[in-house]
Amino acid sequence: HSSAALSDSAVRFNVNLRSGESGQNMNFVLKKKLRVWCHFPDTGWELGNVQSLSGQLANIFLSNGKISAVHVERLLPANPNILDGTDDLIQLSYLNEPSVLYSLKRRYADDMIYTKAGPVLVAVNPLKKVHICGSDFSGAYQHKTLDGPHVYAVADAAYSEMMRDGINQSVIISGESGAGKTETAKIAMQYLAALGGCSGIEQRLLHTNPILEAFGNAKTLRNDNASRFSRVVQRAKGERSYHIFYQLCAGAPLVLKDKFNLKSAHEYEYLKQSDCISISEVDDAQMFHVLMEAFDTVRICKEDQENAFAIIAALLWLGNVKFEVIDYEKHVQVIPDDGVKNAAKLMGCEVDQLMLALSTRTIQAGVDSIVQRLTLQQAMDTRDALAKSIYDSLFEWLVDQINISLEDGKRRAGRSISILDIYGFESFHNNRFEQFCINYTNERLQQYFNRHLFKLEQEEYTQDGIDWNNIDFIDNTECLNLFEKKPLGILCLLDEESNFAKATDLTLAIKFQKHLSSNPCFKLGMDGAFKILHYAGEVVYDTSGFLEKNRDPLYSDLVQLLQSCSCQLLRTITSHILNQSQRSTRPQWLNGADSQKQSVGTKFKAQMFRLMQRLENTTPHFIRCIKPNRKQLPGMFDNDVVLEQLRCCGVLEVVKISRSGYPTRITHQQFAERYGFLLLDNIDFQDPLSVSISILHQFNILPQMYQVGYTKLFFRSGQACLISVIY
Ligand code: ATP
Ligand code: MG
Repeated sequence: HSSAALSDSAVRFNVNLRSGESGQNMNFVLKKKLRVWCHFPDTGWELGNVQSLSGQLANIFLSNGKISAVHVERLLPANPNILDGTDDLIQLSYLNEPSVLYSLKRRYADDMIYTKAGPVLVAVNPLKKVHICGSDFSGAYQHKTLDGPHVYAVADAAYSEMMRDGINQSVIISGESGAGKTETAKIAMQYLAALGGCSGIEQRLLHTNPILEAFGNAKTLRNDNASRFSRVVQRAKGERSYHIFYQLCAGAPLVLKDKFNLKSAHEYEYLKQSDCISISEVDDAQMFHVLMEAFDTVRICKEDQENAFAIIAALLWLGNVKFEVIDYEKHVQVIPDDGVKNAAKLMGCEVDQLMLALSTRTIQAGVDSIVQRLTLQQAMDTRDALAKSIYDSLFEWLVDQINISLEDGKRRAGRSISILDIYGFESFHNNRFEQFCINYTNERLQQYFNRHLFKLEQEEYTQDGIDWNNIDFIDNTECLNLFEKKPLGILCLLDEESNFAKATDLTLAIKFQKHLSSNPCFKLGMDGAFKILHYAGEVVYDTSGFLEKNRDPLYSDLVQLLQSCSCQLLRTITSHILNQSQRSTRPQWLNGADSQKQSVGTKFKAQMFRLMQRLENTTPHFIRCIKPNRKQLPGMFDNDVVLEQLRCCGVLEVVKISRSGYPTRITHQQFAERYGFLLLDNIDFQDPLSVSISILHQFNILPQMYQVGYTKLFFRSGQACLISVIY
């Protein structure tokens, strides 16, 4: 692992780094001829030792045996080898990018995928089986015979703190798609279930995974088992819809296949449109059996199971509903074929009613109501909105059932540990409303992350009575304002524009430009696109489809139809939609400001606030998952890919925060015991505080490099090590 060449692109941030790197550190390293990182334009960062210095050029003895003259501007201090492979980045004397990367890379090569970055656990996805999980390991963490960085340690800390402080805990897992969040969440769940013993409820808890994954996960281009939403009706080529659709087609017993008139997945439009039906090495039929077992274990009754499958089959048939144009204005009617017939049968409504609801809408004009025929596009959007809405409701209902089952009939008012597995920050070539929502979520969580880590830090400083000025950090409030501000934030403006039936993507873009250009996080792009400067970088969003997706029209005709269906489960799961649109007989955006039905964006924001509120009442534990390469290959640590994520998800931020703070803390007692023997003056060893101060004075440690607290010494990064180096 001595190969130390690191990222080429790291130099782009050199300037940034230098400003954070104290000149004193570098002078010290040069003077003492210690290890340094040298940046070479071709090979990236390499490790070497300073041999001599002449002016601004240093002769460096590189680890490959060569000697090279390097400008000091291209050098960064490297850590002493004793710190190689350290399990907490905070221990590093020098927290520059090559050092952080090198540490993670070395550990990763030894299958040590977990490393602490101060209060945050960094988990680099191994993309293969590593032998660090299972009952032996979880037992060892439980009995404290192992205490290195691990998801188990985080789960254990959450559990212990919950028991000790009586406060609800949360484990917040983030990282980009495919980084390993869901696997990490499962590892945490296994640990907590094992802590709980072997009673039924723990087993049920673990069996919720196959259910949640069947209904909540799908294959994407980046992850065969990605946690996703909103992809029932369309997605990119090579991706799949939720696993459950394929599992049902492949694995349903004959009775159900007959009952639902189920065909193979290839015959359904909603499945075949993305040219991807199977996942290599995944047997959908077998997964369906795993799912049914899980349903039994979690105690979802057979009747509910069957009804849920019937709804899934209904959605598949709904996707096959076709329309024909009947006049010159492109109005349509539904073609009365297998698609609409099977869908109606499974939903429990008359075929004629479904055909009518999918091709017309009733508009209230004063006391009169007018029935209007839909155009082809409107009809297809309506059909898809119905499918999405039913799926969404089914998923919510399932989660409720799981929770009811886990509560064992009793509402548990006790303490809890919440595990949050979110979709990470995304920036594609083409970014749409989904990315907009995903990145908004991440922006909110990032604020929580920053604020919380600062708060904790500062509390410790103030409690120990040291001078403390607020540390600089990248505050993303401005970006959140851009989203949330009333009335001139993106979400409000989007709602307002959604209320105009004649609004277009272009009028939306113009509206954004008119009201948002004063926000430093907003820029107008080309062709109706706009840019947002997120904490993790700039993302260009394409406004096309924003209005439609924000409205997500579910005409009242359809809502009423759902409520008249004989499928009891369908009525139950969709009753909340009726409540939302009760006062409305028109799609909500035609109703003006006092509409009862919320737009997708507004609902999303409300959910975000509820989530934040819930997290606010917990003690959070953060895990940042990192993807080692973009090819999903094991054993490949791509420096650029890792570095980009460390920057985006804010790990380097935490590290920088710790740099400007006092990451090294040692009690006066320990400090006096460790270094007291070096003192030349006679000092009262009964008074560790005086001993500490005398040591610092004797070795001329610069006053700005440390602070003396009531119980501890607080050092700037690298200073404790400095003392060790002197001796
Ligand atoms: P998304 O945001 O798309 O849901 P994710 O971050 O939840 O992505 P996972 O589904 O957890 O990503 O992980 C992707 C894949 O990486 C897994 O299917 C698995 O193959 C592998 N993987 C993740 N974590 C581990 C681990 N700890 N050990 C072994 N393999 C892992
Ligand atoms: Mg996931």
